[in-house]
Amino acid sequence: MAVRVAVNGYGTIGKRVADAVARQPDLTLVGIAKTRPNFEAEQAVAKGYKVYIAGDGTKDAFDAAGVPTAGRVDELIRQVDVVVDAAPDKVGKENAKLYKAAGVRSVFQGGEKSDVAEVSFSALANFDAAKGKHAVRVVSCNTTGLSRAGAVVSRRWPVTSWEATIVRRAADPAETNRGPINGILPTFQLPSHHGPDVKTVLPQLPITTTAVVVPTTLMHVHVNHVRFATPPRDGAELLAAFRGSRRFHVFGAWEGVDGTPQAMEFARDRGLNRNDLMENVLWENGLKVDGHDAWFFQAIHQESIVIPEVVDALRAMFELAPDAEHSMAITDRTLGLTKS
Ligand code: NAD
Repeated sequence: MAVRVAVNGYGTIGKRVADAVARQPDLTLVGIAKTRPNFEAEQAVAKGYKVYIAGDGTKDAFDAAGVPTAGRVDELIRQVDVVVDAAPDKVGKENAKLYKAAGVRSVFQGGEKSDVAEVSFSALANFDAAKGKHAVRVVSCNTTGLSRAGAVVSRRWPVTSWEATIVRRAADPAETNRGPINGILPTFQLPSHHGPDVKTVLPQLPITTTAVVVPTTLMHVHVNHVRFATPPRDGAELLAAFRGSRRFHVFGAWEGVDGTPQAMEFARDRGLNRNDLMENVLWENGLKVDGHDAWFFQAIHQESIVIPEVVDALRAMFELAPDAEHSMAITDRTLGLTKS
């Protein structure tokens, strides 16, 4: 029988998780929970999802907007095996009490601290660690991107040090209340929290990170400098490792992808659900190996990179697949991801 899933919090991440869960052969989306009756609630109803009222939301507000509801979030939780929490940063920790009281399993997002769950997760890095677990946290968008790259690289070539500068998008495209719209903001935490977060899934990776915020909504970009104990033979060998791995899309130099605008244009042309770009994006001409050192850029579509990871986390928790490769194969096929 398929595992019954609820999604609590239906914003950028929650609505994508709901769509992804609905496409899985071994998962059933029972319903979603939302605080406000906005256009996203209307669209959820149009897709046939049952909408429940979350947080401080009221039935009166949904009734007034003409959005049909099936009950409150606690009624939804009682019908499922697991809740994927996609509420705003730090709200998941509060919601965790609901899940615990109901005795259901839970998946949290990267805006929560790692102690919200038994284990932090990224499929390529530590799929097996989530097997049979009751509470799992899928790491954030930047951490997912670095963890995927860290897993692919460090399993082939021992790494001495890894420094990543994270050029962060200021806001998601729909967020009208965030900035800056003109300026570059250093993150005054040196090194930044992303390195320790990567170590929650790859404890041995000697990574340090710094971050700046820039006025774009499209994607994050990571500037990576890796020093190896035993390096890849050359750039071609390193590139082949990324090209051969799930969850990476490598643009050839001939493709004319100068940066994130064309990467997103590619995603719009490809036309997956919401034109999402769930892979780490690399450039053939944005990677170099010189002796024991390597440098490469990667871009991360913050709104969608964690979606396949949430699906794999669910499969690991309920042991629906024997290993990461089997789970990712189903996830990638159902979400339309193909290797570049
Ligand atoms: P969001 O603000 O787009 O969506 C959150 C939704 O939860 C909103 O619809 C909000 O109304 C609702 N909500 C508020 N209080 C709630 C409650 N008590 N119970 C249930 N729902 C409630 O946020 P998001 O960007 O989807 O982020 C969700 C989580 O995913 C955060 O932990 C965030 O750090 C993480 N994340 C976000 C991104 C990103 O780029 N947007 C990427 C990776 C991970």
